[in-house]
Amino acid sequence: MLLTITTTHSPATELGYLLHKHPDRCQSFALSFGKAHIFYPEASREKCTAALLLDVDPVKLVRGGGTRLKQYVSDRPYVASSFLSVAIAQVLSTALGGRCKDLPELAQTPIPLVAKLSVLPCRGGEEFLRQLFEPLGYSVSAEGHSLDEKFPDWGQSQYFTVELQHTLPLSDLLSHLYVLIPVLDDDKHYWVGDEEIEKLLRHGEGWLTTHPAREQITRRYLKRQQRLTRLALAQLIESDDPDLDSAEESHAKEEAAVEKPMSLNQQRMDAVIAALKQSNAKRVIDLGCGQGNLLKMLLKDGFFEQITGVDVSYRALEVAQERLDRLRLTRNQWERVQLIQGALTYQDKRFSGYDAATVIEVIEHLDLPRLGAFERVLFEFAQPKTVLVTTPNIEYNIKFEKLPAGKLRHQDHRFEWTRSQFQNWANQVAKSFGYTVEFQPIGTEDPEVGSPTQMGVFKR
Ligand code: SAH
Repeated sequence: MLLTITTTHSPATELGYLLHKHPDRCQSFALSFGKAHIFYPEASREKCTAALLLDVDPVKLVRGGGTRLKQYVSDRPYVASSFLSVAIAQVLSTALGGRCKDLPELAQTPIPLVAKLSVLPCRGGEEFLRQLFEPLGYSVSAEGHSLDEKFPDWGQSQYFTVELQHTLPLSDLLSHLYVLIPVLDDDKHYWVGDEEIEKLLRHGEGWLTTHPAREQITRRYLKRQQRLTRLALAQLIESDDPDLDSAEESHAKEEAAVEKPMSLNQQRMDAVIAALKQSNAKRVIDLGCGQGNLLKMLLKDGFFEQITGVDVSYRALEVAQERLDRLRLTRNQWERVQLIQGALTYQDKRFSGYDAATVIEVIEHLDLPRLGAFERVLFEFAQPKTVLVTTPNIEYNIKFEKLPAGKLRHQDHRFEWTRSQFQNWANQVAKSFGYTVEFQPIGTEDPEVGSPTQMGVFKR
């Protein structure tokens, strides 16, 4: 398996600094599955090519287990696959991370690069290959290989020799290869766990969120494991910011600062708790619980017997956990509460079996096209008897002295609705899923623009 990277940046031999591998030497590295060799077939001022030759040891693969036939009839030693990604991460880690001691600026600079992969398995064919690389700006050329030259009737194989050409920083090229090679191959040689989400988000930083094939990339990268895929997608969709969680934290503070003078949060919590009690809801799931504002109050109140908080943001759940820890609850009290990481736009059995679901200042964080998925997850599948949804009333925004996010109360809000927009949506949802809905203002009501927060109380 061979990957070559060529540049015509001048002087081209600076590629050696970027890769941290001297052009005059051939270097070999032992990996768990074989060996990686790096050498330069060509190194002049005008043009420099680095080659990564991966020598996957078929005997080691067999020792790793697998079904009998697959062990011996395997393309793994000969094609670009997740083995190559691992080799890139281990042997070229500094370059992949965009670091370069000697030429730090060059590491960030777009330079003309051509990557050539022989041989790349493309499940989904040339079309899918193009769908992955062309939106990132690459010119793609692909030469298909027949299944067997002696038997042309057998047709084409899924193997291609591929050339990718683009002007970009080397670390971007390596990140694209790192993520997209296993995606094309649609297989991974190792067990895929939660940490793969972190790798995907890290190496997909800056390009994956806006990639038109991001859903397919994520699904295949995570080996089609539904739980991992939906968590990763929700995090991608949730924010374009790579440091998602700390951004979320500071945004939450911003919003709180806007609303603080009227202690709107407290009024919201009071209204929600009153409505829960009125519905006699003792088992409550708080969807998009954030840092646990509502959970804390529910826990302090002996009326509530089972309290679950769900959020897609792991960091938010950590903060919620710390805040609940500070309540110094007894063991019995603790048994009433649980926190789970989950996405509200994917059906989830864990959301079922509650008297009530609360969705407090959350819907405006969902992309409008995803709102339909959320409606089904909650009203069609989870089906709590009562649902409380609160959201800002945009009409009231003229009353705030200053809004840091411009017209909206929070940078991450995808929309804010007028009273009639919210009521139209809620009435439509109630009708579609067999609920009734009533509306309640939260916070001081202004005769013209209404109250700062609006709440829909849905009953089944
Ligand atoms: N209900 C809380 C937090 C509101 S902020 C409160 O009133 O304080 C919105 C929260 O929704 C954030 O914590 C965010 O991580 C979460 N969220 C946004 N989109 C989500 C999704 N698709 N799935 C799960 N949680 C989501």
